[in-house]
Amino acid sequence: MTVRSDQNQDEIEKNERTSYFRLPALDVSIAFPQATPASVFPPSTSDYYVFDDLLTHEEKSLRIKVRECVEKEVAPIMAKYWEKAEFPFHIIPKLAALRVAGGTIKGYGCPGLSLTGSAIATAEIARVDASCSTFILVHSSLAMLTIALCGSEAQKERYLPSLAQLKTVACWALTEPGYGSDASSVATTATKVEGGWILEGQKRWIGNSTFADVLVIFARNTTTNQINGFIVKKNAPGLTATKIENKIGLRIVQNGDILLKKVFVPDEDKLPGVNSFQDTSKVLAVSRVMVAWQPIGISMGVYDMCHRYLKERKQFGAPLAAFQINQEKLARMLGNVQAMVLMGWRLCKLYENGKMTAGQASLAKGWITLKARETVALGRELLGGNGILSDFLVAKAFCDLEPIYTYEGTYEINMLVAGREVSGFASFKPSASSQRSRL
Ligand SMILES: Cc1cc2nc3c(=O)[nH]c(=O)nc-3n(C[C@H](O)[C@H](O)[C@H](O)COP(=O)(O)OP(=O)(O)OC[C@H]3O[C@@H](n4cnc5c(N)ncnc54)[C@H](O)[C@@H]3O)c2cc1C
Repeated sequence: MTVRSDQNQDEIEKNERTSYFRLPALDVSIAFPQATPASVFPPSTSDYYVFDDLLTHEEKSLRIKVRECVEKEVAPIMAKYWEKAEFPFHIIPKLAALRVAGGTIKGYGCPGLSLTGSAIATAEIARVDASCSTFILVHSSLAMLTIALCGSEAQKERYLPSLAQLKTVACWALTEPGYGSDASSVATTATKVEGGWILEGQKRWIGNSTFADVLVIFARNTTTNQINGFIVKKNAPGLTATKIENKIGLRIVQNGDILLKKVFVPDEDKLPGVNSFQDTSKVLAVSRVMVAWQPIGISMGVYDMCHRYLKERKQFGAPLAAFQINQEKLARMLGNVQAMVLMGWRLCKLYENGKMTAGQASLAKGWITLKARETVALGRELLGGNGILSDFLVAKAFCDLEPIYTYEGTYEINMLVAGREVSGFASFKPSASSQRSRL
């Protein structure tokens, strides 16, 4: 018989008392058998007003193709990667096979989709995982589109084909630690030297930047004082990108702080079409249409999840779906989705007909994110305790919506852009502090 010393005895008892804390968590489908977790994604049920009727045959086929791929490849792994805040690199070839990177860009190996088709694809990816849709959006609707709209012929031929196949990945860097909403004031400098430019400064929040092969970076020309754009390659001497930790939303997206210390960019990598901040605004107006479709997709997914969950889980001897208050919430969510979809669709049509204004894009991005915020909050309530678990999608979507509310122009800035267009008055600058109100 082994004799235990007092100290050992204490340790053993402590270990015995606490050992069950160290067991791995039960699989959620065992721990909670009354509802299916989102790793098995629910069927699509949010198309109540048959939006599909407004799509072309190609757009419908693309919708189904993207939906099937993300439900199969992304849904089973998203909660795990979201919790770890890591990017699932192994899904890049699956996303590449969808042929959505490059969106509306024609030629250079890009898919040349209609804007509506590209928007639907964005929504279908966001329906399952908003981080994945942000990864594509930054790469495609910001970086690739900037090269397509503002690049030279040689730059388009050199960079776009491999970006379209996701053999290389891009990021787009405008925001700085000191300038977010006030992006036109960027302080990163570009100084002309023999054969190229020297970039110096900092960028913040840049999605995909920790692993991007191609970085589209905006900087202020020290001679003209205007904003110019540059293509910077990974591993350029003086360039570092460090991951921003502790995000509560879009945790799969690798957002970085970029430091540029005397980074040399050859003349051939300066974008000839970016000569002022207005040129970046042209890109932002189009990408804002895509961003507006992300909260639509997120809301569709949350609605689908709630629709299934309320039928599966029972309380007081009846499915949760049988209770009046739950039905009101579900119907309100469904109404929001119909309104968001129709606004987003009309925005695409205005763009495709060459009629869309910056204010219209901003109003859609702002208003849709506002409605989506309400929709995911209702979904979170409907799932009770499971509404705070990433395994059931809704908590994750709830958190993912917050950065979308803020990026590509915050809700407030987008509403002010629309407000300026309809009123004729810009109200971005505060009134002078010396002008005291007499009221
Ligand atoms: C997850 C994530 C990903 C991002 N990805 C990228 C990226 O890939 N590339 C990139 O360049 N940037 C990126 N951004 C940056 C994003 O575009 C900025 O965060 C956004 O523009 C807001 O800037 P800010 O965070 O500095 O907020 P601030 O500008 O400091 O705003 C703070 C608050 O003040 C309000 N406010 C500011 N100015 C005004 C005004 N004039 N009138 C009224 N209200 C005002 C804002 O609406 C907001 O509520 C990303 C951000 C996040 C969170």
